[in-house]
Amino acid sequence: MPALSAPKILVHVRNTDATDWIDGIKRWAPDIEAVQLADDRLPDGLDPASIDISVCWRMPHGLHAQLPNLKLIQSMAAGVDHILSDPRRPAEVAIARLVDPWMARSMTHHVVSQILRWHRTLDRFDACKAEESWPTNVIFDPDAVSIGILGMGVLGQAAARALSALGFPVKGWSRSPKSVEGIDVLNGADGLDGIVRTSNAVVCLLPLTTETADILNADLFAKMPSGGFLLNVGRGGHVVEADLLAALESGQLEAASLDVFRTEPLPKGHPFWRHPKIWPTPHIASEINLPTATRAFAETIRRVRAGEVPDGLIDPEKGY
Ligand code: NAP
Repeated sequence: MPALSAPKILVHVRNTDATDWIDGIKRWAPDIEAVQLADDRLPDGLDPASIDISVCWRMPHGLHAQLPNLKLIQSMAAGVDHILSDPRRPAEVAIARLVDPWMARSMTHHVVSQILRWHRTLDRFDACKAEESWPTNVIFDPDAVSIGILGMGVLGQAAARALSALGFPVKGWSRSPKSVEGIDVLNGADGLDGIVRTSNAVVCLLPLTTETADILNADLFAKMPSGGFLLNVGRGGHVVEADLLAALESGQLEAASLDVFRTEPLPKGHPFWRHPKIWPTPHIASEINLPTATRAFAETIRRVRAGEVPDGLIDPEKGY
């Protein structure tokens, strides 16, 4: 990447004033110039050719195509599907995703909380309040359940290690072979099949790509041991919603914890809101932490200025 003397940054967070983000980045990189959109459009008087870097969450489609000198599109999140889905995205511009250790810690907390809620049947005890009596013979054995993590990247590996440390047998699935201590990582269609058939709980931590869209479907649910648990913290586009509702209805799945949805926020009246076996959360499994994320963005800007390769560059061909 060619070095830049004084980059100008466009910062956009959908439906949110980006001033805090601009101030946060400038705290670490005081000499940059940064602007934000006005009503989802470039501000009046801004020369589109002056923008070098876009830092964004869900930029309006077509906007990046208006910036002829753009060198880098930096996602404000770990996922880049919101950038790649723009049909007018300038194909020659590099894309980077956010890599921030804070996110892996936050995601791990969420995954562990939901797995334990399911494993320790915490909802059952809430329901006991109505009866004013407890169930008998309550035993929780982590060895008796197996957990499959789909996606063994930065977040998947962190969650897998934490669950394994809690005593759960854990397997993982990734695109390429990898070795993670204490965890079997499988690949390909056969690997997925092997994991799903032996996992009482499936955790989705995949990026949304053409290969992974709709992967949480009737076929996958049918292969899981009966009475299983689904935790989707990847993207809403991974789940075939009608198939999930049918699997919960038949008892093939016992419960599903969903942090991401095809439409966000989850629309009023959507069946997931009131379903007793669905535990929805509002895309908070790993929220972006402004102080650490803006520091990471400033480091990316420093690297671009110096002509170095920024962290988290993605491969648009692979889609992540
Ligand atoms: P990452 O480091 O890029 O890891 C992605 C993992 O998925 C890698 O292990 C990759 O395999 C695997 N993968 C991709 N395509 C695959 C395929 N076709 N078959 C098998 N494995 C495949 O990403 P990350 O930082 O862990 O984040 C993962 C995803 O979590 C993000 O893309 C985003 O969708 C989601 N996320 C959600 C939240 C939330 O709050 N709910 C927050 C952050 C992120 P390789 O290792 O072989 O490349």
